[in-house]
Amino acid sequence: MQDVNNSPVVDGDWAQVCSHMRDEIGDAAFDSWFKPISVRSVDSGVATISVPTRFMRDWVANNYLDQIRALWCAINKQITNVEISVGNAQGGGILSQASSNAQRQTPSSHRNGGQGMMQGQMQSHQQPQMQMYAPDHRAQPAPTVQVSQSTLADDLGAPLDPRYVFDNFVVGKPNEFAHAAAKRVAEADIPPFNPLFMYGGVGLGKTHLMHAIAHHMREVHPNRTVVYLSAEKFMYRFIRALREQKTVDFKEQFRSVDMLLIDDVQFIAGKDSTQEELFHTFNALVDQGRQIVLSADKSPSDIEGLEDRLKSRLNHGLVADLHATTYELRLGILLSKAEQLGVELPTKVTEFLAHKISSNVRELEGALNRVVAHSQLVGRPITLETSQEVLHDLLRANDRRVTIEEIQKRVAEHFNIRVADMHSARRARSVARPRQIAMYLSKQLTSRSLPEIGRKFGGRDHTTVMHAVKKVGELALHDQDFAEDVELLRRMLGGVG
Ligand code: ADP
Ligand code: MG
Repeated sequence: MQDVNNSPVVDGDWAQVCSHMRDEIGDAAFDSWFKPISVRSVDSGVATISVPTRFMRDWVANNYLDQIRALWCAINKQITNVEISVGNAQGGGILSQASSNAQRQTPSSHRNGGQGMMQGQMQSHQQPQMQMYAPDHRAQPAPTVQVSQSTLADDLGAPLDPRYVFDNFVVGKPNEFAHAAAKRVAEADIPPFNPLFMYGGVGLGKTHLMHAIAHHMREVHPNRTVVYLSAEKFMYRFIRALREQKTVDFKEQFRSVDMLLIDDVQFIAGKDSTQEELFHTFNALVDQGRQIVLSADKSPSDIEGLEDRLKSRLNHGLVADLHATTYELRLGILLSKAEQLGVELPTKVTEFLAHKISSNVRELEGALNRVVAHSQLVGRPITLETSQEVLHDLLRANDRRVTIEEIQKRVAEHFNIRVADMHSARRARSVARPRQIAMYLSKQLTSRSLPEIGRKFGGRDHTTVMHAVKKVGELALHDQDFAEDVELLRRMLGGVG
């Protein structure tokens, strides 16, 4: 047996194999599957490579071993075979952990191996996978002076998500007000407004901002008691205190905190005694100049079943709403998340996701995680096609029948022209071409007739629509960029691939 550490030839061979493989499968997949591999031995023409886990062995064997063998045999005629074993491989890299984790979490997944590992299994462990690729903020040391305060905070409150910090929050038009208010509160010594009440639809960043405030406050003032919890938890605490006849303790504890953040207060609407208790806690804290931050899915006035005096108190501070995300904000969030994950997303994929997953940030994040996990696991680069494939269930769920108005809006957005130009008589090419594309897509994606489409485009004749459809088809045949643009728009609008 040859000791590989002393064999520049073997090392050189392996480096060449690796270089070919990297070109072949891309950086992400290569880093995932090849970095952890080491060459263990070369014996009588048989090279043995080793990987850290059985899961990896099965994966590499199923997906890459034939190629590795072919390459190596071609590079070095003395090699007749390549085998793979599990062992204490060097190199490590994220994937050595990732795969052992994957193995632990889905013990059956390696049996599927190769291309057999399709979406079902992928989704079942995409969450844990992604957490590993994400930077580990948990490693940040907690301030030491915090001990006694944080004990009380931990007793009363819920743990904070280490990822929910201001630095990871992408600011755009829809959330800039809430973000600015949250920052003010986090950085202020004396409550600038009390309470801060943030509201908005699900998945728009309320919890993220609340945690960010709490993180910041704890960091800057480690000896202050900052308590974050959901309204639901507040209620259960209160009920337990009632049952155990410890309401005095409960009151005292909550009234001694320096900052109280209660998430999703809509939950206690209609729960009279909890509201009552919250109201008193609230008054006590405000009177002592302690900051309160609340969130809900609606504005105080719109939450039904909330007592008027509580509403009025809530409206007393600053009410900041988070609006539905815009395309630009979604793009920004995707870029930021991709960077955190250390992956490079093709622009077309980013645009596609930002257009298609418009419901909320949580879904957007989930979609990105799935696309990245899929690419890393099957060792193929992220493309528009694979993204669509991986997300087809999500996309279908988001799909509705597209209308001509939506097509006009999307196309206008895409080419940066006014929607009104879809109806206008302007004939400049910069508007006429997008208009033709919109007509073409209307024909393709809706069941409207040519005259109907014509009417929706400023009362144009059906022959104009026919001409547009023909023209766009022709241009797409001869101009690759143009064809891609149209294709991208078609996919964004829900056209099946
Ligand atoms: P909500 O509490 O409003 O339902 P969350 O705060 O839980 O929403 O946000 C859902 C997910 O989306 C979280 O993972 C959060 O980090 C992320 N998120 C929301 N808005 C942003 C943003 N502007 N920038 C970065 N991440 C965001
Ligand atoms: Mg929330």
